[in-house]
Amino acid sequence: MYDFVVVGAGLFGAVFAHEVKKAGKKVLVIEKRDHIGGNCYSYDDPETDINIHKYGPHIFHTPDKRIWNYINTFADFNNYQHRVLTTAGGKVYSLPINLATINQFYNLNLTPAEAAEFLKSKTSNIASPQNLEDKAVSLIGRELYEAFIKGYTIKQWNCDPVELPAEVITRLPVRTSYNDIYYHDNYQGMPVGGYEPIFEKLLENVPLELETDFFEKRDYWKSVAGTLVYTGPIDRYFDYRWGNLRWRSCRFEMERMSLNDYQGVSVMNYADRDVPYTRILEPKHFYRERAHLSRGTVIIREYPCDDPAQPYYPVRLKTDQEILAKYQEAQSREKDVVFGGRLAEYKYYDMWQVISRALEQAGKILQGRSSSGRTKSRQLLPAED
Ligand SMILES: Cc1cc2nc3c(=O)[nH]c(=O)nc-3n(C[C@H](O)[C@H](O)[C@H](O)COP(=O)(O)OP(=O)(O)OC[C@H]3O[C@@H](n4cnc5c(N)ncnc54)[C@H](O)[C@@H]3O)c2cc1C
Repeated sequence: MYDFVVVGAGLFGAVFAHEVKKAGKKVLVIEKRDHIGGNCYSYDDPETDINIHKYGPHIFHTPDKRIWNYINTFADFNNYQHRVLTTAGGKVYSLPINLATINQFYNLNLTPAEAAEFLKSKTSNIASPQNLEDKAVSLIGRELYEAFIKGYTIKQWNCDPVELPAEVITRLPVRTSYNDIYYHDNYQGMPVGGYEPIFEKLLENVPLELETDFFEKRDYWKSVAGTLVYTGPIDRYFDYRWGNLRWRSCRFEMERMSLNDYQGVSVMNYADRDVPYTRILEPKHFYRERAHLSRGTVIIREYPCDDPAQPYYPVRLKTDQEILAKYQEAQSREKDVVFGGRLAEYKYYDMWQVISRALEQAGKILQGRSSSGRTKSRQLLPAED
């Protein structure tokens, strides 16, 4: 009998298992894939010695110093700061749209204040935007929308932005400064050595069964678990009773090259609709400190697609939300089961948010009761300094 059986060795499952193990509980992790790490999984390509993120590029970033301190107890991070370029109409621009993008696109030389006025003059006055296109045009104007947002959105979501509700975007990041660092977060970097060592440390001394699908012996796993921690898809848990929640997926096409440097940046977006991929990744740029050691380079073309076996981005339109509400209702009635992580919560989470959620859930469940019967909550995060 285990105190906890954790389904899934992704970030949520690994952090949760680590914390309950540390608190002296008996825990087992089962994982249907043949590796730990979930979608953060990365490996060194033996031919080039470049660290490859199998399920898409993962840049660690967080505004929360305590999460940064926590993850740094499992790995050293380099000083990578994410910058993205985009190719549109045969030219390369800086993203998110910033003063350099605006000046280059309009062939101007505006100051920040002038750019703010200029953008105002470009945004149409749409009183209540009915769809994503109206909303985007009202925020950044038609020309920038057509050049940088429209084609990319069509490829990413496989539908015309006029068919998407306006609520999908609340804002579009437009900067009237030359700041081109993609994330605002104070803490960012890539784990030296990739993500696998982090998971190995998190799961050190935790019994683990790989290539083990929970649903093949569902009753057995439940019978040996005091508490089940489920990080798989929520609709699958309830046998799709109220229908399938929709996800958008990606197909990755990897190519090794004998070149030293293919594109000079880790991520190049392709905004035009007639280019079938949304971006090309060149992972050696994530690790400049070891770039000189690699043999050639690797590029990865990313093609958005529908693949239920690889759920990446939750669609979360109205029908999905309605279905989700039914699963959540059923979930709230499940006894001794913790549902956590992106698949079980049907939510796009960045890694730091998943760590935060897992610590919160583990803290809650480990919380003791003092003799007076009052709840004593456990602090799992290290102090800020
Ligand atoms: C393309 C892409 C790029 C991203 N880039 C970033 C980024 O740059 N920065 C960032 O902070 N975040 C990024 N993320 C988000 C990040 O991947 C997630 O926050 C994180 O992986 C979520 O961890 P998780 O444990 O919730 O889910 P997962 O990593 O999916 O782990 C769930 C695990 O459960 C296992 N499982 C499922 N069902 C079963 C079953 N029946 N039996 C046994 N095991 C099962 C799965 O195999 C999986 O290993 C990105 C996500 C995507 C899709």
